Amino acid sequence: MNNLFRTELWAPLLDILFPAHCLACSTGLRGRRGISYCAKCLQDVQLLQEPFCNKCGIPFDQAAGESHLCGYCLNNSWYFKQARAVVRFEPPVAEAVKIFKYKGKMHGLATFAALSQQYFQRQQLPQPDLLIPVPLHAKRLRQRGFNQALLLCQKIFPTWRQKIAPHILERNIWTDPQTGLSGAERRRNVRNAFMVHRPEKIKHKKILLVDDVFTTGATVNECARILVKNQAAEVNVFTFARALG
Ligand SMILES: [Zn+2]
Ligand SMILES: [Zn+2]
Repeated sequence: MNNLFRTELWAPLLDILFPAHCLACSTGLRGRRGISYCAKCLQDVQLLQEPFCNKCGIPFDQAAGESHLCGYCLNNSWYFKQARAVVRFEPPVAEAVKIFKYKGKMHGLATFAALSQQYFQRQQLPQPDLLIPVPLHAKRLRQRGFNQALLLCQKIFPTWRQKIAPHILERNIWTDPQTGLSGAERRRNVRNAFMVHRPEKIKHKKILLVDDVFTTGATVNECARILVKNQAAEVNVFTFARALG
C-alpha cells in the first residue's frame, strides 16, 4: 500500500499532468531532475564558493585569493561561529524565494534542496547535534500558515530530520518586518525577541540555526545570542540565500 505513495512511481504521470516549468522564465522543462531552472536561467544561479569571509560567509571576488575575515567581521563580533549560504539573494533565485515565502508557492523547494546538495559537495557544514529553524511569531505563523525556515530545514537536510527541533526557540515579541531597515535598526528591532524553551535541551549542544535569507545577520545573531546565553556549546548559521547588502 505504501508503494502507492512513492512519488518516483508517479513521476512520469505527474510530468504529463503537471509539466515542470522554469522558476524564472516559465519555459517548459522536460523531466524532473530536481532543479527547475532552464539551462539559460541556470547560468545566472551562482553557488557561493570560496573565497568568502570565514565568519559571516560574505563572498569576495575570485581575485581576493584565499578566504579571510571581511572588514565588518574584523571590527565586530557575532554570537555564531560561522554563517554559510548556498546562493546570492539576487535574480533569479531571489524571486523564487519571495514567491515561496510570501505567496506560499512550494514548487521552488525541491530546487532549493537540489542546489544545496550541489553546494554541500564542495562546502561541508559542521556536524550539528540539533537543527533549529528561526521561528516566526505565533501571529505571523497564523497569517502565513507555515514557517519557511522549518520547511527549508526539512527539505534540505532530510538525513538530519531527527535532529530538527522547531519548538525550542520561540519568537515571543512581535517585530515589524525588517525590510527597509538599516543594520543598526534591525539589531534594535529583534533585540530580546526570542526565548528558549527547555534550555536543558540545548545545553552543551552544537546547533545549526537555519533560515531562508541572511541579510544583515541581525536576526540569526540575536537567536545565536540567546542560544549561547542558555549554554549551547556552539551555534553555526545556514541560510539558503545571502543578501550582499
Ligand atoms: Zn528559464
Ligand atoms: Zn564577515
